Amino acid sequence: GFKCGIVGLPNVGKSTLFNALTKTAAAQAANYPFCTIEPNTGEVAVPDTRLRQIADIAKSKEIIPTRISFVDIAGLVRGASKGEGLGNQFLANIREVDAIVHVLRCFEDDDITHVEGRINPVADAETVETELMLSDLESLERRIVQMRKRASTKDREATTLLPVMEQALALLQEGKPVRMMLNGIAPDDLKILEGLNLLTSKPVLYVCNVAEAEAATGNEHTEAVAKMAEAQGAKSVVISAAIEAEVAQLADEEAAEFLGDLGLEEPGLDRLIRAGYDLLSLITYFTAGPKETRAWTVQKGAKAPQAAGVIHTDFERGFIRAQTIAFNDYVTLGGETPAKEAGKARDEGKEYVVQDGDVLLFKFNT
Ligand code: GDP
Repeated sequence: GFKCGIVGLPNVGKSTLFNALTKTAAAQAANYPFCTIEPNTGEVAVPDTRLRQIADIAKSKEIIPTRISFVDIAGLVRGASKGEGLGNQFLANIREVDAIVHVLRCFEDDDITHVEGRINPVADAETVETELMLSDLESLERRIVQMRKRASTKDREATTLLPVMEQALALLQEGKPVRMMLNGIAPDDLKILEGLNLLTSKPVLYVCNVAEAEAATGNEHTEAVAKMAEAQGAKSVVISAAIEAEVAQLADEEAAEFLGDLGLEEPGLDRLIRAGYDLLSLITYFTAGPKETRAWTVQKGAKAPQAAGVIHTDFERGFIRAQTIAFNDYVTLGGETPAKEAGKARDEGKEYVVQDGDVLLFKFNT
C-alpha cells in the first residue's frame, strides 16, 4: 500500500492528529518530546462521495472505500542527522514512506512547550528540512565517490547514474531540497532519482496545526506557510488537531453540527487524507455490482492490466479487456445498462490508461 509519513518537531500535534486519523488511542499524546518512539501505522479510508452515488444506482449491499496508510514518525530535533534525539531511527523510518506530511505548530499555547521556545512554523520547517538535506548530502557524497571511480572505468551503470546524482548533489550543496529538480524531469532521470531513495526528493504536504477558533480562517502563521509551500511547489492545509481529536469521537450527525458551529464544512482530516492521496499521485477507479461498490487505488498513468492487478494478480495475468464507463456517464445515464445503450461503455485494451472515476468491469482468462 501507499504510505504517508507524519513528521515534525516534538509537540506540534503529530500524535493528536494521528490518533484522530486512526481513531485509536494507540499513540498517546503527551506534553513532552519523544512521546512516540515506535512508528505507528494506521490505515484510513479515503473519503469519496462518488461511492455512495454509484452504490445507490447499482443497488449495492455494501460500500468499500479504498485506503491509504499514515505512519506517525518519532519526533525529530535539531541535530538528528548527527544522531541527536531519535535521529537515526527517524531518518530510517522516513526513508520507507512514499510522501511526507509535515506538521507545523501554528497555535499559541503557553502551557505546551515549544522545543525552540517560539512559534515560527517557517523556521521550524527549515529546521526539519535542514536535517533531511544534511542526511541526503552525506549519503549522496558517499555514494558519488564510488560512482566516480566506476565511471572512470567506463562502467555503464555509473555513467548513466552519475549525472543525476551530481545534479542532486549540487542542489543540496546550495541548501535546496532535491525535490526542486522534479519539475519537468525526464522519465529516465526520475527513475534513477527514485532509485536513490533520498529523503528530500519525496513530495511534501505541510499541515498547519491551528487553534480551534482559527480552523476556518487560518492565521498569519498559516499564511506564511502557504507562501513557503507555493515557492517550493508543495501544498499546505490548515487543520486544528484539537478539533479533529474531538470530531473523531462523535457520531456523524453530532460531528456535522459541531463542525458547522465552527464554520467548517467537513472534517479537516477528510481534506488531509485527500491531499495525501493527491500528493502520492494516486487516482481511484470503481467496481460496482449488487454485492458491493468498491473503490480501488492506482498510480496516475497506470494501464488497465495494472489496475486489474490491484484486485487480483490473476486479473492482470489473464487480462483481456476492461469495460469502461466514466463516472459522470455512469451517474447521469443511471448505471451500466443505460450507459451501454447510450454507447458510453467502452471496451478498452491493454494500453488503456485508467482515468480517475472510471467504473471498470474486467474480462480475463483464468
Ligand atoms: P507531537 O509531539 O508532535 O506528537 O505532539 P502531540 O500530539 O503529543 O501534542 C503535544 C501537546 O500539544 C499535547 O498536549 C496536545 O494536546 C497539544 N496540542 C496538539 N494540538 C493542539 C492544538 O491544536 N491546540 C492546542 N492548544 N494544543 C494542542
